[in-house]
Parts: sequence; structure tokens; C-alpha cells
Amino acid sequence: MLFDTHVHLNADQFDEDLEEVITRAKEAGVETMVVVGFDEKTINRALKLIDTYDFLYAAVGWHPVDAIDMEDKHLDWLEELSSNPKVVALGEMGLDYHWDKSPKDIQKVVFRKQIRLAKKVKLPIVIHNRDADQDIVNILKEEEAHEVGGIMHCFGGSVEIAQECLRMNFHISLGGPVTFKNAKRPKQVAQEIPLDRLLIETDCPYLAPHPFRGKRNEPALVKLVAEQIAELREMEYEQIAEQTTANAKKLFGLS
Ligand SMILES: [Zn+2]
Ligand SMILES: [Zn+2]
Repeated sequence: MLFDTHVHLNADQFDEDLEEVITRAKEAGVETMVVVGFDEKTINRALKLIDTYDFLYAAVGWHPVDAIDMEDKHLDWLEELSSNPKVVALGEMGLDYHWDKSPKDIQKVVFRKQIRLAKKVKLPIVIHNRDADQDIVNILKEEEAHEVGGIMHCFGGSVEIAQECLRMNFHISLGGPVTFKNAKRPKQVAQEIPLDRLLIETDCPYLAPHPFRGKRNEPALVKLVAEQIAELREMEYEQIAEQTTANAKKLFGLS
């Protein structure tokens, strides 16, 4: 059984064939998924999905790219949603220095506000990091995010950064890039970090694994991520599947 810790089944890309996508996920052994909402539209859609399907859970947060659009009412809304038993984490939140829609200082403020909220409502956090390793680590430290811990989603950093995150009570989640031939760092991370802190995800519809790179991604393909990690660690696929599923359930408080 597999646990895909980061899906965007709430994205427009799945409007046409969601049922088939879910059927293929089940056939591939995907037992549970966390649907991530990161703005008004995608959060509302995630909430609908978790009401409809018992094997879907949600993470709700505000994306750093859109930090400039977040108002206080949104933070209050996130707090309200956190009492829904199927909302298992806050996020994705973090820093994204690739896109310049939201200035860095605004991204940082919005990130800190969400970490504080997570500590208040006692939920783990899902971190989105693009080109911002050191600032992310510094803010997590300053805000004492270890109290709630959470996930470094689609982790692309070095083994050293991964270890810093582990020390702060975070899990490392690997996605499609670990299967790319030229992706040295995710492969090293897959080999080096303790198995009990490792998670898998698709981040679908984005970042489809090899040999589907560039195509629409979907949860069934998380199997390829698990297979790649098994190969890198010279372990059985079943062991990776079982352990990453157990890790995710424990982190999200699901039994
Ligand atoms: Zn992300
Ligand atoms: Zn995402």
C-alpha cells in the first residue's frame, strides 16, 4: 500500500477524468492521499473532495507565490478549517524565490504567520521551498517550528540541508525528480536519510516521474517514486511502500 502525501487532485487538470485518475491510483496500490489547497479556490475544492472520498485528507495553507494576496480573513479561515478532522496539516506554505509575484519580505511574513497558526492549532506543516534553502531553515528555527514538525515537500536540497530539517522534526518527501537521470541531490538524499523520516509524493499534476517527465502527473505514478527509492537503497519495494505509508500515517495522526 502507498500513501501519496501531496496531490493537487483539486487542480483544473483533473476536471475531465478525476474518477479514472482515482481508479488508477487504487489499482497502483495508493491507499491514502493528502489533497493540498493553497488559495481560496483550491482550498474550497480540496474540502469538497475530502467530503466525497473517505481515503482523501486535506492540507490547507497559503502559497508563497500568492503571499501578496493573503489577508487576515484568510488566516482566520485557515484557523477555522483546522478543526475539521480531515484537515491533517497546514500548508503548503514557505518561500518561492523563482517567481517574483510576491516580494520576499511579504513571503516571509506570511510564512511566519502560518507557522504560528500551526503551533496554535497543533497541526504539522507542509513546506514549499524553491531556491530558498537557507531562509527556510532560518525561519523554521526562529519560529521553533520543531514543536509541530511536518514535511519538506518535494525536497530538492542537499543532504546537509535535509539533515538540518530532520533535526527540526521534519520529514523529507521525495517526488518525481528522484527518478530523473540528472537529479543527483534527490538520489543522494534518498540514500542517506533515515527510512523512518522518508515520505513519497507526486505533487500531481506537476513533476511526473521518468519516463513520463513533462506529462500530466497523477497519484498512480507515485509507485515509480517508491520503486526508484527501493533501487537506490537496495531494498525491497514492499518495504519502502510499507515504511513510507506508516511514516505518513503517524505524522498525520491517522491510524
Ligand atoms: Zn509546492
Ligand atoms: Zn504542491
